Amino acid sequence: MIIMKFGGSSLESASAIQRVAAIVKGSLASHPAVVVSAIGKTTNRLLHIAEFAAQGDALTAWRKLLALEADHLQIAAKLGITVDREIEALFDELRGDILEIASLGSISPSLWDRVASFGERLSSLIVTAALRKTGVPAKHLDARRLIVTDAHHTEAAPLTIETYAKVRRAIPCADRSLVPVLGGFIASAEDGTPTTLGRGGSDYTASLIGAAINADEIQIWTDVDGMLTCDPRVREGGQCLKSITYEEAEEMARLGAKVLHPETIAPARKQRVPVMIRNSRNPSHPGTLITAAACETGVAKSIATQPDLGRVALVGTGIHPHASRAQEALRRAGISATLSEVSYLRILFQSEPQSVTSAVDVLHREFFEVAPRSPERLALAAA
Ligand code: ASP
Ligand code: MG
Repeated sequence: MIIMKFGGSSLESASAIQRVAAIVKGSLASHPAVVVSAIGKTTNRLLHIAEFAAQGDALTAWRKLLALEADHLQIAAKLGITVDREIEALFDELRGDILEIASLGSISPSLWDRVASFGERLSSLIVTAALRKTGVPAKHLDARRLIVTDAHHTEAAPLTIETYAKVRRAIPCADRSLVPVLGGFIASAEDGTPTTLGRGGSDYTASLIGAAINADEIQIWTDVDGMLTCDPRVREGGQCLKSITYEEAEEMARLGAKVLHPETIAPARKQRVPVMIRNSRNPSHPGTLITAAACETGVAKSIATQPDLGRVALVGTGIHPHASRAQEALRRAGISATLSEVSYLRILFQSEPQSVTSAVDVLHREFFEVAPRSPERLALAAA
């Protein structure tokens, strides 16, 4: 079996969902289980609605809620699926939560989780119906009944033993006649109250499910070709990495790469399940493979950035001997950045937020682009 996880941007419209359905249909021979994020920007929109309600602006909350409902109904209509009743029932339930927030005047962490859960509850319902419409024998599973967490609302930690037992029961490897579909990100505490795995947590769900059933592969479908040598939001022209190790991917996610939720890799790594990053808008691209495979050491794989914090990091297994080369390249370019940490997997620089783009540019040229060797560089290499 394989796990196919689709992010919000891969599901942002009816045509995007149709593209996803075609990708799943084309993979039926590999026996997929499908994990979905909320549609487009739904989670942010839900949380804004809750904030307006908490601030006493019930009218705006109501207006935005109706717009969100209309968008979901419109996507369903465009897909030609009949799930209006289920969508309306979910929005009725959500209205109850929003009223509660309005009367309390604040959003408790458990209410936050309740509100945030609607995005994935809605998207999993819609994607299940869309898959059926394309002829995929999809079966909806409620992720809140499968992923068990502690009670740390808004950023709950999964209890893996309980979760794996439930997942294995719900998705028996022997029964391959149906394609399970479930929402990522959402879970429940042991007492049944809804929790969530933290923003971007659908990747984490996919990894947990993949590890639980010992899947052949976990595919994370997103809107970029794969992990890149630099963050496309900071600098264009990054190259797509063909393969990296679990440790490098974890490091990149921790240091700001937005492609993967930072906790995602651990369950897959423990079970040695390969993770693939794929582009739902460019499905013929092979993407990035993340495995335990031995890799070339002492080579920079990527530059991870946290622009708001002014942090820029070169990531790669055995990258540490290159610290002074990186420092020298930045110094030559007149960028003030302090070398703040060197380890086997990272060389981390701290600079001002406004210097991040130029620091990335300099390091990318130095480590990823073939540049003519200057006399100083040759002298430096000989030293
Ligand atoms: N919908 C959730 C979020 O926006 C989880 C996810 O997309 O992975 O954070
Ligand atoms: Mg994501």
